[in-house]
Amino acid sequence: MITTDIIEQQQKYEMDVYPRRNIAIVRGRGSKVWDADGREYVDCIAGHGVANIGHCHPAVIHALEQQARTLITCPGTFYNDQRARLLEKLVSIAPNRLTRAFLCNSGTEAIEAAIKFTRFTTGKPGIICAMRGFHGRTFGAMSATFQPAYKEVFEPLVPGFTFVPFHNADKLEAAVDDNTGAILLEIVQGEGGVNIGRRRFFDHVQQIARKRNLLLIIDEVQTGFGRTGKMFACEHYEIEPDIMCVAKALAGGLPMGAVLCADNVLPPKGKHGSTFGGNPLVCAAALAAIEVIEQDDLVTAAAEKGAYFADRLRAINSPLIREVRHLGLMVGIELKQKVQPFLVALMERGVLALPAGATVLRFLPPLTISTTELNVVAEVVHRVLAQSPHHQ
Ligand code: PLP
Repeated sequence: MITTDIIEQQQKYEMDVYPRRNIAIVRGRGSKVWDADGREYVDCIAGHGVANIGHCHPAVIHALEQQARTLITCPGTFYNDQRARLLEKLVSIAPNRLTRAFLCNSGTEAIEAAIKFTRFTTGKPGIICAMRGFHGRTFGAMSATFQPAYKEVFEPLVPGFTFVPFHNADKLEAAVDDNTGAILLEIVQGEGGVNIGRRRFFDHVQQIARKRNLLLIIDEVQTGFGRTGKMFACEHYEIEPDIMCVAKALAGGLPMGAVLCADNVLPPKGKHGSTFGGNPLVCAAALAAIEVIEQDDLVTAAAEKGAYFADRLRAINSPLIREVRHLGLMVGIELKQKVQPFLVALMERGVLALPAGATVLRFLPPLTISTTELNVVAEVVHRVLAQSPHHQ
């Protein structure tokens, strides 16, 4: 099928919820994807930060093939070998206090579960979140998300969420009251503009949580599994959350989420669950993906490549650039104008990148991306900014 046929067919039958780009991606390998007309792209979207080990990694393919022949589905009411192995692995790589995990199918489901575990454990409905934070699209996670554009058309929201400025621990402490059960934060706000949380802020947040007996929930959906140059972004500041939510890169490209909990978080036995959560097929893929991250030391690779790429981007020295920000391979270029036309121009020149808010270009390439590919991306960004009519 050629691009125009795919677009026509999909447009005819799909509920139209996504802002679209006019290409049809049909194949991927490593850091590259190809459209239906055979055009090649360096993929710095990577499924919105999913393909940390690259597209169609052979280890994931192998694990899927094996497990698909053995057992694909198995409800959470039974024990299962792949699930047992994955749970052990997840707990072994997570920050120390996290000793148990609940498996689900996406980031937003992980946040929903964290909200339910918080209410069950503390009996309190209040959760303090950050302005510009993003946590998902289902009702609880959407209510925890700051940007009104994501939620105002769906009101009424879940009550109890309060928003404070991301770097302001005093305002956060002032927002705590008798109904507050938890604080929910990203370490690096992804959708919110690649805003990197500061150590001092998180030190404070941790103290407030301990002092006021609140659960500290860290959303590592976008930052987890090596993305920021640590296995989890918490490790940059020795943060010890009570609950950590992960998803995206967890299962090598397949849909999966998880909520990792400390011993003080109570399991609502018989009151929460998921039909597909922790199915053996996805668990096998996740085990393979985590092993690739460990064996190929992609965590160190992300730190080194992120620093290299950010240096290349800073060297562009365009008057359109306000700032280049990065933690590992979570990279943002804040421009002095809207990024939309630049995203299109990059795509036309074979580079896929994301927005993060209106003025930030975001790059979330596979951690396996080569230096040559990063050079290509930096060069294309340079050309696109230089050719802009607003460039002077
Ligand atoms: N939390 C963060 C920080 C995210 O970036 C996202 C998705 O972009 C989510 C939660 C929601 O994840 P999902 O789209 O898998 O529901």
